[in-house]
Amino acid sequence: MTPNTYPLIRFWICALTVLLISACDPPPPGCPHCSDDLQLPSILADDIPFRTLEMKWNALNGAPSIDDPSLLCEDSIDEVLLNRHLRAGLCNWTQCKILLGTVFGPTSNYGLFNDPDLSVGAAGDVVVHNTSLTQEMEDLAILCDNHWNMQPTGIAAIAVREFVNADGSASPINGIAFANSGTRPFLFIGDLEFFPSSHQEMQRNTERILAHEIGHVLGLCHANGDDGVACNSGFVDFDDFGNLMSGAGSTANSRTLVEDQCDIVRTRYADLFFPLDGTRSRIVSLMDEGTERFASADNSVDLYKTMVFDQLAERGYLKLLLGTNGLFSPRKTEYWVLLDLDNNENTGRNGRLIVEGSDQEGVDMAVKVEVSENGSRSNTTLYGAGERDFQPHSLTRELVRSGLFTSEMYVSSEKECTSVPVFQEIEINLLREALTRYSDTGQVDLSFANGLKIQTISIGTAANGENLMDKSPERPRAIFLQ
Ligand SMILES: [Zn+2]
Repeated sequence: MTPNTYPLIRFWICALTVLLISACDPPPPGCPHCSDDLQLPSILADDIPFRTLEMKWNALNGAPSIDDPSLLCEDSIDEVLLNRHLRAGLCNWTQCKILLGTVFGPTSNYGLFNDPDLSVGAAGDVVVHNTSLTQEMEDLAILCDNHWNMQPTGIAAIAVREFVNADGSASPINGIAFANSGTRPFLFIGDLEFFPSSHQEMQRNTERILAHEIGHVLGLCHANGDDGVACNSGFVDFDDFGNLMSGAGSTANSRTLVEDQCDIVRTRYADLFFPLDGTRSRIVSLMDEGTERFASADNSVDLYKTMVFDQLAERGYLKLLLGTNGLFSPRKTEYWVLLDLDNNENTGRNGRLIVEGSDQEGVDMAVKVEVSENGSRSNTTLYGAGERDFQPHSLTRELVRSGLFTSEMYVSSEKECTSVPVFQEIEINLLREALTRYSDTGQVDLSFANGLKIQTISIGTAANGENLMDKSPERPRAIFLQ
C-alpha cells in the first residue's frame, strides 16, 4: 500500500463513472468517445470477483496525441493514455469482470521515449512485417521492460504514431499484440485518430482496437479460428462483427465476448493480474440496476449501479458507491443502503420496516443519506435492526462516513475543450465497528463467508411532482468479498 493509492483509485473511479454514462454520439474530430451505450450486463456470474489488470503505458515522441494532449481534450500524456484504456475497458472488459486499472506504487510513471529507429518513416512510426516481431518492436519492448522493471504485473502498452512497412509506406495494421513472447506480454497501438488505416469510422476508434489487442495479450485469438496470431480460439460460431475478437478486427459496435472467452482471458495468464491476496483496495462487485425505470423523469433519483469495495483489512471499512444517472436537484432525495450482513433471512428485520418499497428479508443494518439543495446539504443516518424495528444510532459520524462526488465529462468543439458535470454519486464508508456493533447477529464474520446481501434504494420527487423510487440491483443480491 502506498500513500498515493487512494487518489489514484478516486480518479480512476471518477473517470470510470464518467465513461459509463457518456452520451455516445459519433465522436467529434480529435476527441474520441465510445460510440454506444456502455451500461453492459456482465457475462460472468455476479459472485465472480473483479480482477484488475494494470496498464503499463509507454509512448513515443512524434505521435500527435503524445506531442499535444490537448488535441484529445486532455491535459497530459498520462491522461491521454489512462483515458484510452479506461474507455477500452468499459467498452468491453467489464463483462468479463476485468477492470483495466492504473499502475500502483512508485513505478507508476509512464515511459516516454524517442523513436529508436528513425531510418524508416517519421519519428514515432514503427516498422511492422505481417504479425511478426520486428527489430524496432523488440528494441522498444526492451526500453519498456527496463522502464517497468519494478512492476511485476500488468500489460506493457506502447502508443506509437503509425505502423509502416519496411519501405516506409503506411501499413493496414492498427495495433499488434504479443501474448507471451519470451516473458513479456505487450501491445502496440497507433495514433488512430490521426492515422487511421482506412477512412472508415471504425478504424478511427482507438479504444476498440486497443480492447481487441488486450484480448490478444490475454490469450484470445481471432474468433474466426485464425491461429496465426497466438492460438486457435475455436470460436468460429461467434465470428461476427459484434465480437470484440472478430477476425476482421474491431468495429464500432464490437464488444460482445462469449463466456468461454472471458474464462480464457481470466485464467490463461493469471500472473498478469493484480494479486487478489494483496491488501490494496479492490472492487468486490459492480451491480447494475437491471431494467432502467425512469431516467427521463429525474436522473438523479435514477440509480444505475452500486459498487462495493473491500477496504476492511486496509483501512477498516467497507466502501459503497451509489451511482446516480444525473445531478442532484433542489428537492430532497433519500438514498438507502440495506445490508443483510450474514445473508441470513432469520436474523435482522424486513426492510419495509425502515424504507417503504423494500421487500428484503433479514436486513441487519440500513444507511440513509438524505441529499437536498443540489447536493449542498446532506445528512447520514445509520440504523441497526432491533427487537421490533430499526433504531437510529447516534455517534454515526464515527461509524459511517459519506461524501458526494461530481463527475465531469469533456466536451470538445473546434475551438476548445470544456468540461461539464454529468452526474453525481454518493460514497459511503461503513467502518468495521459499525458492522460488528449493530448487527442483529452480534458477531459478524468480516470475511462475509456466507455472502453479504445488499440493495440500494432511492426515493425522491421529479420536477413534475411525481414520486419516484429506484433500486439497484433490482432484487437484493448476495455478493462475496473473495
Ligand atoms: Zn487481432
